Amino acid sequence: MKSSLSEKDTAPLKSMEDWEEDLIIRYPEPKSSNKSRSAYRNYENSARTKTIREFYRLNHTYQTYDFVVGKEKEYLQFNKREMSFWEAIDFLNKLVDDSDPDTSLDQLQHLLQTSEAIRADGHPDWFVLTGFMHDMGKVLCLFGEPQWAVVGDTFPVGCQHSEKIVYSEFFQDNPDYHDDRFNSKYGIYQPNCGLDHVKMSWGHDEYLYQMMKDYLPEPALYMIRYHSFYPQHRENAYDHLMNDHDRKMFKWVDKFNPYDLYSKVPVPPDAKALRPYYEDLVAKFLPETLKF
Ligand code: FE
Ligand code: FE
Repeated sequence: MKSSLSEKDTAPLKSMEDWEEDLIIRYPEPKSSNKSRSAYRNYENSARTKTIREFYRLNHTYQTYDFVVGKEKEYLQFNKREMSFWEAIDFLNKLVDDSDPDTSLDQLQHLLQTSEAIRADGHPDWFVLTGFMHDMGKVLCLFGEPQWAVVGDTFPVGCQHSEKIVYSEFFQDNPDYHDDRFNSKYGIYQPNCGLDHVKMSWGHDEYLYQMMKDYLPEPALYMIRYHSFYPQHRENAYDHLMNDHDRKMFKWVDKFNPYDLYSKVPVPPDAKALRPYYEDLVAKFLPETLKF
């Protein structure tokens, strides 16, 4: 399947950041002024809308249950390469910069703005670290994964796609939509079975969760694993698969989301000056090298 995809098919977005920009349009900051809200709305008519649509068409068409099983087999052996946390950050930053020279914000800046906003609010150090690393799974792009298999709102596979998922009409082109094993409300799952038993569409969330699951406290792991699960944390579209423990833990996912979406500041944080603080923080929780 992959070989039949052209470059345009794998990368309709100018940069992965386009997806995040679109999220802010869809979910504007509650405290933002009306003026900036309408500025966001004008955005909707821009060329970006077309590329976002195309991005979701591909994502919804190709993210099948079998696709996820295949990616798990491929990536969860973690035998691609070994890097320190900082090498991974550099690695991620370079690619995103090269692919989009006029992007306003590189990945490191997004991570730092997220984590610094969390730190400024006095949250515990593991929460700050979570903010700092939450998008590191985007290195998947560097291993040749198409944009639609790295970013985008995530959703459960193996059961019916909620109509509350953005551009849900595109699921009609997904083979699972026509597969009786997968197209009922619960599909292969049991009512309120808990998200740990539910397979999510493949992307940077699940990949990083699997890499970090031995090192961080559970709330941090929920934030990493479900931060792109907008259909649930914003739309409550999958309550029927959640158990009470998930609901408790999603309070943390909800707490994290505004830092991810609304932490852009006019003056970017000084990465160099902040480096010693983050070096200590990373060393406190993570081993010297990580397997990707
Ligand atoms: Fe993310
Ligand atoms: Fe992010």
